Amino acid sequence: MKVTVLSGGVGGARFLRGLIDVLPQSDITVIGNVGDDLELLGLHISPDIDTVLYTLSGAGDAERGWGRADEAWRALDTVAQLGGDTWFLLGDRDIGLHLYRTEALRKGEPLSSVMVRITRGFGLDLTLLPATDGALRTWVDTPAGSFPFQQWFVARRHEDDVDGLRYLAADGVSPHAATAAPGVLEAIASADLLLITPSNPYVSIEPILAVAGIREAVRARTVPCVAVSPLIGGKAIKGPADRMLTRLAGGTSAAHVAGCYTGLIDALVLDEEDADDTSAVAALGVRPVVTRTLMRDPATRRALAEAALGATGSVL
Ligand code: GDP
Ligand code: CA
Repeated sequence: MKVTVLSGGVGGARFLRGLIDVLPQSDITVIGNVGDDLELLGLHISPDIDTVLYTLSGAGDAERGWGRADEAWRALDTVAQLGGDTWFLLGDRDIGLHLYRTEALRKGEPLSSVMVRITRGFGLDLTLLPATDGALRTWVDTPAGSFPFQQWFVARRHEDDVDGLRYLAADGVSPHAATAAPGVLEAIASADLLLITPSNPYVSIEPILAVAGIREAVRARTVPCVAVSPLIGGKAIKGPADRMLTRLAGGTSAAHVAGCYTGLIDALVLDEEDADDTSAVAALGVRPVVTRTLMRDPATRRALAEAALGATGSVL
């Protein structure tokens, strides 16, 4: 069974760790978010895709949820000593990947192509594609002004309320002209099942859907699409998803989550704590599948992946 998964960073990677326990990696294509990407210290950084890469290959720091295990920070110490930009934490091992990838990009190789080598180099058999090889950057509009995603998320610790999101070109001004990376639309069209990870709908999944052709391809699906809610009891495990839903969607129920994916999903896997929301989800034409969704160990991750795969039996 071929499965194509739209994924953000930490929540997406946790879910995918369970999925690769129950499906052969060669059957899985992950379409990753690049709206969070940034250029810093001359390096191109793709935080969400790298979180998936590190987590699935076992190279990641499980406690932090991002970056590499057994990391050192000597390069950044030197940058700090010289008064350079250190607001975005880059470990030494992590920088090695950024150096390798940035060099390839400078030589004109597309990101999707470099990622094939990097994925194999980390010992993974699945396909990990950026949604686009072009530039699409998430901008966050707040009462304090508009910020590129990482400025808001990391430098300003996502404390500003979010009034809206925009997905722009690299200059942060023009509309983006990003088209789907080679293989992305094909992976959506040829999948037996589409999945959306328990990720932030606004800043992890929407920037994928905002790439020309991707939303349309998911909308035109002839197979089921199943999303997993990133909220438990109406709250995010970590990060601003709940605050964003409250302000931008008017609430944090499972129906509000389903409402982010109107016309795009057939089922929503939601937590037992949100079981009261099932009729409101069903009223949107989305099948609610209630289970435990907290992923704290291999068994709970695997069970959630199985629930998402099982949700399809009933919608096929
Ligand atoms: P980011 O790109 O690193 O911010 O990560 P994602 O957007 O992929 O995931 C962030 C979301 O993951 C948050 O809204 C969390 O609530 C959600 N999340 C993290 N761990 C879990 C979990 O164990 N279960 C569920 N259901 N959601 C989780
Ligand atoms: Ca992200």
